[in-house]
Amino acid sequence: MTKLVFATNNRHKVDEVKHKLNGLCSIQTLSEIGCREDIPETADTLEGNALQKARYLYEKYGCNCFADDTGLEVEALDNAPGVYSARYAGEAKNPDENMKKLLCELSGKTNRKARFRTVIALILDGKEYLFEGIVDGRILEERQGNEGFGYDPIFLPAGYEKSFAQLSMTEKNNISHRGRAVEKLLAFLSEKGK
Ligand code: IMP
Repeated sequence: MTKLVFATNNRHKVDEVKHKLNGLCSIQTLSEIGCREDIPETADTLEGNALQKARYLYEKYGCNCFADDTGLEVEALDNAPGVYSARYAGEAKNPDENMKKLLCELSGKTNRKARFRTVIALILDGKEYLFEGIVDGRILEERQGNEGFGYDPIFLPAGYEKSFAQLSMTEKNNISHRGRAVEKLLAFLSEKGK
């Protein structure tokens, strides 16, 4: 079974990805390999950030690894906050402040269409691969639910009447941006016989 290090300090992402991989691939966390640094993500695209994080790990630790970068793209805001989703309301990367700012920017707007987009960068035996996952939906008028993380309480996936924060991890993983990108990663590994 392939062993991959997941280049994130976000425990929610680790939980979701491990749950989705369901033992088909062995995941190590940064703390398990003794990496305590804050991995830089200074690119201006999701692809660039995901690659930057994966390359950082590969160059420093020489391990097979992957990183994900996610953005919330809101149509009425010209796809903002996008790659700047984490710092939308400032360097503190505070999810409550980010949601508050987004709801404020959208107040009075009828077009609330949005999508989450995740890019996973995999480095396997020194080669780089990218996988994308997208989920369409809309931004709610107010927060709903307590599960998940980040912008989950204000994102209503298309075809659902519950926000991401009202879905179980299994339900979110079945339709989410990250779940879809991880499915592509798994399909790739299985094609490679890894
Ligand atoms: P990053 O991929 O960690 O840079 O995430 C960018 C921003 O999007 C952060 O504010 C995250 O909290 C948020 N985010 C990432 N993934 C999700 C998700 O699955 N649901 C809700 N918010 C997310």
